[in-house]
Amino acid sequence: MTDRLPGFNTLAIHAGAAPDAATGARATPIYQTTSFVFDDVDHAASLFGLQAFGNIYTRITNPTNAVLEERIAALEGGTAAVAVASGHAAEFLVMHALMQPGDEFVAANKLYGGSINQFNHSYKNFGWNVVWADTDDPASFEAAITPRTKAIFIESIANPGGVITDIAAISAVAKRHNIPLIVDNTMATPYLIRPFEHGADIVVHSATKFLGGHGNSIGGLIVDGGSFTWAGDARYPMLSQPRPEYAGMVLSETFGNFGFAIAVRVLGLRDLGPALSPFNAFLIINGIETLPLRMQRHSDNAKTVAEHLSRHPAVAWVSYPGLEADRYHQLHKRYCPHGAGAVFTFGLKGGYEAGVALVSNLKLFSHLANIGDTRSLVIHPASTTHRQLTDEQKTRAGAGPEVVRLSVGIEDAGDLIADLDQALA
Ligand SMILES: *Cc1c(COP(=O)(O)O)cnc(C)c1O
Repeated sequence: MTDRLPGFNTLAIHAGAAPDAATGARATPIYQTTSFVFDDVDHAASLFGLQAFGNIYTRITNPTNAVLEERIAALEGGTAAVAVASGHAAEFLVMHALMQPGDEFVAANKLYGGSINQFNHSYKNFGWNVVWADTDDPASFEAAITPRTKAIFIESIANPGGVITDIAAISAVAKRHNIPLIVDNTMATPYLIRPFEHGADIVVHSATKFLGGHGNSIGGLIVDGGSFTWAGDARYPMLSQPRPEYAGMVLSETFGNFGFAIAVRVLGLRDLGPALSPFNAFLIINGIETLPLRMQRHSDNAKTVAEHLSRHPAVAWVSYPGLEADRYHQLHKRYCPHGAGAVFTFGLKGGYEAGVALVSNLKLFSHLANIGDTRSLVIHPASTTHRQLTDEQKTRAGAGPEVVRLSVGIEDAGDLIADLDQALA
């Protein structure tokens, strides 16, 4: 044996997992239990005081969830991770650890629609204020920063698909102002892009999408990059100030480069409570074992389908970075040379009516509001997710009347093309 470091494919299958100590079970068991018996009174006291690592209650830690946490930390190249109930819970717990009432964060304007709602409306109840910047213009992030800015939030491959963010350029802005950069890496997954290598400090995921990969479980993940220095920084009191409930412990000092993940777990998950079910953790762990194979096929199929659509007489335009003429093609070659992912949009010459007809006529593609399934998915935003907006607002959001979004699955590309052709005809 050499002391070589395991590669990405190996980590996707093995990181965090070992044969079960109690039974020898090779697949990760589902520890479907709410709570765990203490060895004795001293053991209980040390667990509650954060003097020892171990399990108390599944809202805070669980051995099945721990395998998922170690696996995503290894794949992203972070120091630790926390599994939570959904992608939105992941975003919320990250902000909860960073923000005080009256604080601001700067967010890219090309984001998952649910994140835009969360930031614009629900966060107002906590006194957290979002300031929007242009995903394609790193200088607009710099211009939006004020003394109350506590974080920058972007997506790596951004919604509505077909957008590649210049993570390193935005990280340079964050570093100049000593602000942590949070990257939602849901659409890329660490197989296509590893944001910590480009200067991110925290990564969040909706594991609901490509990590789980089979359209069967809602889940979220937070990964600590270990790169930001919280200790002594009064702007982040949860991390830098003594915690009364833990005998005055300062989390960033006791836990060093995984202090952020600890704060999310022992303050956010403990008090706000969006825990991931161990059963869902099990399904997501199984999904991740085939992540490299699936992401490659998703990307290869998406490119084949995008090329076909770009030559189709009924199609006005296709927005996919894998196409040579695409405006994001250079960023694609720099950030995700394996492929540009599964999700992209295209425009129909026939406008709104043609969009409605297409989703009605497709047979293999499922018409629904999700991405990242093995199955191919389609949605016509103007008649569904964006129907309440005016035509002008729709167009600004990349959801004009003619726009169709695909999440290309891992079926045979020829079958997907045949289905699109019959539906377009
Ligand atoms: C789906 C999604 C979310 C929200 O995740 P849920 O698991 O649905 O809560 C956040 N960000 C992106 C990019 C997503 O696609």
